[in-house]
Amino acid sequence: MAILSSGDLLGLSSVSSSTDAGKPWYSTVRRCGQLNFNESDPLTVDIDAWMDYWVSLKVNAVMIGGGGIVASYPTNVPYHHRSQYLGSRDLTGEAIAAARKRNLRVIVRMDCNYAYQDALKAHPEWFHRMPDGSPRLELEASYLYKTCLFSSYFTEQMPAIYRELQQRYSPDAIFTNGWPGTAALEVCHCVNCKKIYQEQTGGVPPATTNAKSPVYRKYYKVYMDRIIEIWKLWDSTAKEKNPEAIYFGDLGGAGLQMMKDLKPIGDIASWYAGDHQGRGGANVPIWECAAQGRIAQSVMGGKTVTNIDGAYSDSQPKWRHVSAPAAEINLWMAQVAACGMVPWHHWLGARPKITAGASLQKTFMGGLRRMRSISAIVSRCLRLLYFIPRAPSLFIVRKGQAKES
Ligand SMILES: [Zn+2]
Repeated sequence: MAILSSGDLLGLSSVSSSTDAGKPWYSTVRRCGQLNFNESDPLTVDIDAWMDYWVSLKVNAVMIGGGGIVASYPTNVPYHHRSQYLGSRDLTGEAIAAARKRNLRVIVRMDCNYAYQDALKAHPEWFHRMPDGSPRLELEASYLYKTCLFSSYFTEQMPAIYRELQQRYSPDAIFTNGWPGTAALEVCHCVNCKKIYQEQTGGVPPATTNAKSPVYRKYYKVYMDRIIEIWKLWDSTAKEKNPEAIYFGDLGGAGLQMMKDLKPIGDIASWYAGDHQGRGGANVPIWECAAQGRIAQSVMGGKTVTNIDGAYSDSQPKWRHVSAPAAEINLWMAQVAACGMVPWHHWLGARPKITAGASLQKTFMGGLRRMRSISAIVSRCLRLLYFIPRAPSLFIVRKGQAKES
């Protein structure tokens, strides 16, 4: 499946230059590649072919599936679900070895947001609860249950998995897909959370964002403080074996609709991973990616900022098994580069026949001067606490359909 044609963005070089000496390794990354393992990939994946593909795109770092929901290696951590197709393979270990052989930095991709039913039965306290006390199911995979941010799943279970990965593979970084994100806060109704709410907010926050609720406003701080606490904990865990290793989280694909306060995250984060993979529909302007990137740059103050794009069709309906048009991906990457972010190209599953020749290969952000003469000041707190009337769209959704007003 050929997906990308050659683009001609901003430059040539792919590897760190001599001027990068002394800088943290992650500040010199210019391109990233990511392959999400499917659970059945151990049956068929050709690790060397994929790593050769990433090398052909001149990436510096690769994101390799570790686990959290499904372990791609023979984990011994209880309730860390091994891929049922893993057999005698160790996909994580094989991929890390293949990447290192090619002089690529290795980032293990994890997921902390959901776990299987056996974990729910053994540790009901790990899980997010609905107002009626029932566990919350994942919408697309109804055999998975959402975990509670305020539970020991985040302070004990995930660190135990990270330590196992560190001991076996010593990755350069650990990344959590989908957490903390920048979308609206969620409210869990588990026993532990109710206790925390009562003690720290004086009540129970409303289930949805409600700026008029004084309880919700207090809850916003409690929630953000917990994100910072967990981020710091995981970063210190990542450094236990290798002081140069880092943890960083997924800071979302919500475009300009970000609801979480990015400033305290930017203060502690070594790497901002935007996850704005595409327009998600025809009525989103192509420049929205760059607008999000400018906000990321403002809170990171020169530290590493990347943005993930998707090789799949991120349109309506979202077809994860259909490739996006090459022009769409090229323009999105151009936007990533235009605001000084590092492109991070990702594939879902190892099945597609991969081909070289991507715009990523010709994209270089080293020493890029951001080309802008105007700036926007956006307050995350204003966005959260006050409802803003939706601006009229200037874009026609599709020929023959009504224009938004
Ligand atoms: Zn809870």
